[in-house]
Amino acid sequence: MHRRTLVKSAAALGLAGGFGSVSLSAFAQAKVKPNAKSALIVVDVQNCFIDGGTLPVKGGAEVVPVINKLADSFENIVVTQDWHTAGHASFASTHAGKKPFETTKLSYGTQVLWPDHCVQGTEDAALNKDLKLPTAQVIIRKGFHKNVDSYSAFEEADRKTSTGLAGYLKQRGINTVFVTGLATDFCVAWTALDARKLGFQVYVIEDATRAIDLNGSLAAAWKQMSAKGVKRIQSSDIVAA
Ligand SMILES: [Zn+2]
Repeated sequence: MHRRTLVKSAAALGLAGGFGSVSLSAFAQAKVKPNAKSALIVVDVQNCFIDGGTLPVKGGAEVVPVINKLADSFENIVVTQDWHTAGHASFASTHAGKKPFETTKLSYGTQVLWPDHCVQGTEDAALNKDLKLPTAQVIIRKGFHKNVDSYSAFEEADRKTSTGLAGYLKQRGINTVFVTGLATDFCVAWTALDARKLGFQVYVIEDATRAIDLNGSLAAAWKQMSAKGVKRIQSSDIVAA
């Protein structure tokens, strides 16, 4: 892949602007105890994003046992599922002459183009069978509008169409979300940033995520999340139920 293409890809995410190193706190994170006003958001832990799938994230399967263990500490769990039409606008194959990981212009701006992935109803789009989330109550499906992608669980990539998740959480008195899943620098980051924008306290549980990392997109995502007040923690920082 060309460096220029990859830089453009990161820019397309709105995550560009210096791929400097992310400074880590010198102090250990205080333990965090989820309560009735907390929700665990499990982003896109689907076959497509795990080895053997159409857009595998390195180490994707490793998040499953971490998330299953975290689930014991949460009364509220929301799951997201990337759920594309065949011929979706985010697929490189839809655009003549384009290859995966290049970008194109769509009506709402620059779009990274992906291999065909998570097509509705396929085994590839199914949630990973090893997920065990007894208190999961809602599955937000996203990316099902043929011409609009959706990385975020809250708002589609046109930055106009709401999924309704913020209203659901707020109506249930939930003010804090803990984001996990795949991939850190795309759907997890966009979900966390939107949650901040919508007024939630937001934690990303780093070891319950894995990244795609297109030429610095992971560092850029952490930098942007940190700037917006997203707290970066580890699963060991959660008080076990
Ligand atoms: Zn997708």
